[in-house]
Amino acid sequence: MYRTKTCGELRLSNVSEEVTLAGWVQRVRKMGGMTFIDLRDRYGITQLVTDEATSAQLNGLVEKLGREFVIQATGIVMERQSKNPKIETGDIEIKLTDMKVLNPSVTPPFTIEDESDGGEELRAKFRYLDLRRNPLKRALYLRHKMAHEVRNYLDSQNFIEIETPYLIKSTPEGARDFVVPSRMNPGEFYALPQSPQQQKQLLMVAGYDRYFQIVRCFRDEDLRADRQPEFTQIDCEMSFVERDDVLNTFEGMIKSLFKNILGIEINYDFPRMPYSQAMSMYGSDKPDIRFGMTLHDITDIAKGHNFSVFDSAEYVGSIVVKGASDYTRKQLDELTEWVKRPQIGAKGLVYVKCASDGSFKSSIDKFFTADDLRKVAQASEAEASDLILILSGPKTKMQTALGSLRIEMGNRLGLRDPKVFAPLWVVDFPLLEWDDETQRFYAMHHPFTSPKPEHLEYFYSNKKEDLAMVCANAYDFVLNGTEVGGGSIRIHDSKIQERMFEVLGFSKEDADYRFGFLINAFKYGAPPHGGIAFGFDRFCALFGGQETIRDYIAFPKNNQGRDVMLDAPSRIDHSQMEELFLESTYNENKVN
Ligand code: ASP
Repeated sequence: MYRTKTCGELRLSNVSEEVTLAGWVQRVRKMGGMTFIDLRDRYGITQLVTDEATSAQLNGLVEKLGREFVIQATGIVMERQSKNPKIETGDIEIKLTDMKVLNPSVTPPFTIEDESDGGEELRAKFRYLDLRRNPLKRALYLRHKMAHEVRNYLDSQNFIEIETPYLIKSTPEGARDFVVPSRMNPGEFYALPQSPQQQKQLLMVAGYDRYFQIVRCFRDEDLRADRQPEFTQIDCEMSFVERDDVLNTFEGMIKSLFKNILGIEINYDFPRMPYSQAMSMYGSDKPDIRFGMTLHDITDIAKGHNFSVFDSAEYVGSIVVKGASDYTRKQLDELTEWVKRPQIGAKGLVYVKCASDGSFKSSIDKFFTADDLRKVAQASEAEASDLILILSGPKTKMQTALGSLRIEMGNRLGLRDPKVFAPLWVVDFPLLEWDDETQRFYAMHHPFTSPKPEHLEYFYSNKKEDLAMVCANAYDFVLNGTEVGGGSIRIHDSKIQERMFEVLGFSKEDADYRFGFLINAFKYGAPPHGGIAFGFDRFCALFGGQETIRDYIAFPKNNQGRDVMLDAPSRIDHSQMEELFLESTYNENKVN
């Protein structure tokens, strides 16, 4: 046996026991005739000590230790003279009686401390060293506990976990596929699943009425802090259910996670907010409802004052920043620049300061009398000392821009405490999204999402305006401004499915080629069904109070989709290419 105890478990009650520990040398400190060694393993850190009474041979060995050496240490547990309240084993230390170096280590490129001195790039390259650090250990442990809880809960609700294949045909989640050439089928390719959407629906046809899977999904998209080319979903599907059955079931799962992982009891029903309300009140389909600062549509009162910017706009909207009437010119100029950035896309920013004495100061004083501004303040629900920020232009674009400004102001004012949680469901999404460029509709969720029954009339209309109004029986789970899950009640009627493909501009042949197996399967008794998938990495990051998901993935990729540790992706041998009947048209000099 290499060890009798771990480095995290010894306490005063163990004093005078002889123990053997094994782990990594975190640090060696010499103080007079004494040497202190911090020994670390997954469970914690324990201090080992030698003094003048220690044998010369043992002291000689200790002398040669360096950071990250792996050792086995035997000794007697003693009460410490100067205790360290910062670590759990801080009341004791081990007086060393024997030690063996199990493996030396070269000097690591950065310190293995909670606050490391290594930059992100370097730590990514030596990920196995970074993973020794506490913040990452805590993150992976949280992830493990969450997965465990999800399985427990869903098992208790009669769900069964079924694996689906990774080498499949394209799935319609709207991203690019990663593809894998098939050696045995020259010239043909598998696609890696963007999600197991079709397989889980087929499992419903097969009668497995409650399915789930914690499963890897692959999407070839541009990356951001909370996106990875491969990520994990809690993927679920249920038969003989309506929307609220699905929402209630998974609200139960989410509450059990909050309770058993974070110790937070949520004893209210999650709000169910229609998409249209989320857009008009929060300027986002994933509203952060931890704070107010909601949008106000002031289009009517903003028009008719000879201010052409407002007069010509489809929409004029405002948000109110509480107690910020003292914003300086410089601060307002900076905010104006902020909203003009291409990602936000506003043409400019209008402000109204509501002074504490009831007077107003604004950037539109030339066009608006004090009385007009009072009306703007009333419509925006602003009070004395508040600052009103106003954007105008095309409706959806400006609602979204105000929504982003709201989040930015929320961040600046510290209103987005990661330890406060505000879950909700967003429901009734539009079924279809019009794309000007390609002049066609796209499915906002995916093509198997059913239209709401009360909107079927519009769904069969050939008018663009009618089709744009059709709501889907789709829903998202949103937590603190992040979309954590999404799903829908599916189409199980083959006529409606055919119509859906028609609306999306697929010819019958196209639809057959891409989804023929599903269309066929639905002829053999498809039950009414629906489901949802949660972004597991994001869920973990939010529970851990972090924005980026990378810490919650043992071996993540960087923003260019590279695994810098493995140096992947990489070129393959010419012979490997030939075997796969592949030829590269890539020419370094022609890219960029
Ligand atoms: N497959 C969908 C997604 O990945 C989720 C679902 O509809 O269940 O977003």
